[in-house]
Parts: sequence; C-alpha cells; structure tokens
Amino acid sequence: MLAVDRQARDGRCRSALRDDYGTVHGGRFMHPMVKPALRRGWRDRNTVQFGVAPAHAMLLGPVDTATGSFLELLDGTRGLLLLREEARRMGLPDGHADAVVDRLAGAGLLDDATGGGPAADALRRKEAVLDRLRPDLASLSLVTCEPGGAMAGLAARRSLHVQVRGAGRVGAALAATLAGAGVGRVEVVDGGCVEPWDVAPGGLPAESVGERRDAAARRVVRGAAPDRPPRRATRPCSDDAEPGLALVVLAPRDGLAAYVPDPAAAERFVASGTPHLYVGVLEGTGVVGPLVLPGETGCAGCMERARMDRDPAWPRLLAQWRSGRGRRVPACDLALSGAVAGLAAAHALAFLDGRPPSSAGARWEVSLPGLDWHARPVWAHPACPCGAMDRAKREHSSADGGRHETMAEQQPPTESGRQGHPARLSGTWRAHV
Ligand SMILES: [Zn+2]
Repeated sequence: MLAVDRQARDGRCRSALRDDYGTVHGGRFMHPMVKPALRRGWRDRNTVQFGVAPAHAMLLGPVDTATGSFLELLDGTRGLLLLREEARRMGLPDGHADAVVDRLAGAGLLDDATGGGPAADALRRKEAVLDRLRPDLASLSLVTCEPGGAMAGLAARRSLHVQVRGAGRVGAALAATLAGAGVGRVEVVDGGCVEPWDVAPGGLPAESVGERRDAAARRVVRGAAPDRPPRRATRPCSDDAEPGLALVVLAPRDGLAAYVPDPAAAERFVASGTPHLYVGVLEGTGVVGPLVLPGETGCAGCMERARMDRDPAWPRLLAQWRSGRGRRVPACDLALSGAVAGLAAAHALAFLDGRPPSSAGARWEVSLPGLDWHARPVWAHPACPCGAMDRAKREHSSADGGRHETMAEQQPPTESGRQGHPARLSGTWRAHV
C-alpha cells in the first residue's frame, strides 16, 4: 500500500527522517499534519496528488478507501496515540497508522503541528505574530523535509541579524521585506536625507522626504516587522562589519556600485568572512547577485579581474564612471526596482534559511524592456586574494575521493541551534502533472 511516486535521488530526506522518526515513535508527542500548503486532489480512486505546480507536487498511491479517510485525520489536531485508536476504529490493521505516518514523513509530505523545538513553541505562543507569518510558514514547509522543520526555520529567522547598506528604492523595500518575513534584526545603513525619488511602494514613504535616510528606513522596517524585535544594547546603526551578522546586503542607491562593485568597499566583508549579496538597478538593468560566500564563491575582486582580463579598456572606463560627481538622478524604473528588491530578498531568505540560492557564484540580470531574467556565472579568479580559487581547486582535486563539499552545504552563522537538515524537497521530489 501507499507508495510514493518518486524517490529522492540522493535519499538524504528519507534517511534524515528515519533518525528523527525513531525519536518520534519513541515517545515524543507528535501531532502529524499533511502539509496544508499543497492542494490535494484524487487523480483516480486510488491515487492522490499533493500539489499543483510540478516543483513540489507528488503522487501517492495506491491508497485504499479506509486509508484515504485516515489521511483526513492527519490535520495536526491528534497525537499518534489517538490516531492509532482512530485507525483501529476504522478497521485498519495494527501498525497501519504508524506506517502511513512514516511513509508520508519519508515523502516530505508531513508536518508536525507541535514540533520544531523550544523556539518554535515560543513563536506559537505569539499568535498575532504567527498569523502575519502564516503564508511564509506554509511556504517554508514546501522546502523543509522534517516534521516541525518549517516552524523551526521560521523561529530561527528571528534570531538573525542582517544589514542592508543603501536605502534607495531597492534597499528600503528589500529591508522591509526581510523584516516582514520574520528576520529578527534588519539594520539599514545609509547617509543623507530622503529625496523625492527615493520614495517607493513598500519602501520609503512620501512623508519621509527630507528626513534622515537611516531614521526613515528604520521606521519602515519597524512597520513591516510582525512584532517589535527585542531591544539591543548595540548602536542602532553601525558602519562596521560586526561579528554576528548573518548577511550584508549591498544595495547602493547608485546601481553602478552593484553592477561593478568596488572590491575595496567589500574588503572587510571578505576579510571577516561575512556573506554579502549585491543588488541594484543600473540604467535599465537590474542585478541580483552574486551572493559572495567569502573564500568559497567569486567576489567583487574576482569579477573585476575577470572583466579586466576580457576588456583592456575596462579600468579606464571604470575610473571615469566611478569619478562621476554629477547630481543627476539615476535612472531606476519603479517596477524594475520592486522586482529586483523582491528577488534579492528571496535569495537572501533562502540563504538565511540554510538553502543557498542560485546567486551564490552567479548573478541574475534583467533588462528593460524584454525583462528576461538570466544568470551569468561569477567565477573565482586565480589572482584574487579572496581564496575562492583555492577552494575551487581543492574541490576539483578531491572530487574523486570521499565526500566532497559543495556550496549547498554552506550555512549562515546562527546562534539558534536550528535542527534543520540540508536536504530539500524542491527539485528532488516531483510528480508528473
Ligand atoms: Zn575573489
């Protein structure tokens, strides 16, 4: 009975769950819940399809009528003991309830309404906060294998500290999105006062024109957050890369500094090992990435050196562009800046959640008017002192022996002790739909 249509290619999800599952069956009070994020539909009398879009959809079958009814009970309101009783009452054989729950958990289709650990429990007690974050929680459940993992991930976001440098159309909206998605501390760094052209939906409001940019952005972030973060003793706006930063987002108001980032400006982030993500709009082009994992993936120095290798005139052009002192208002399509801010926030969140996105080692670009997103790789450069090339060489030379590490195993620094596994559902579990 009850076979999953596709098996995980690498088996990581299943084996990770078996470990957890032993504990669950050993006495923890799990409240199994078929992930509500996936719409359910019966393809025929014996086959149930979870999910619509192919990225996360899955088929389950054959499912007999009694088991189909039993699935309806897996809504997070019953513990395993009660579920076993209900199964017996429905005439299902001994052990059937556990087998179904086990199989669903192995397929990544099961959540635990009470799981995720103490931080998750604390978040559950904040009902109003959780109501704001419910769509994000449901979304996290789609990329989290283990029961309770989505809530644990959401709770872990609250302990993270992210710095956004730049409070223009892109930076302020991006910072607000991160705060709204539950990141506990989002700090915005910028100078000067809000200009009329900084105003953007989701970002700095029209009322803030003339106000200090950092103060206005802080208010926007506070307004977007589902609750007030705990007070901290540190300065509200620090200009230094400080330890404990999970990520720095470089969102300069002048998109040139995102399109051709100055290696000197990122030196301290590379030196301190602080992951940083570039984002901006230059002329009619939006860029998201690269997400630089210092010593692991190509940095601003790698990019600049590669460009100079290809184009001898590049340094001369760069010097002219960077020395421009005009007071011109830079081009920045409002819809484009919104799209760029949103995509960059999604990449940032993926990284913060422990699932490094495709911008690690690459840059996404989009240009008006076609608006066709495409990725360009950012290679480590042999002459760059960041060390990414050494890492690439090491990986290459050890590729044929033992377990070789990949970018996907890079985790953001966190004190939360989250219990997540690196396994993910996206792109691994699929059904034909
Ligand atoms: Zn480099």
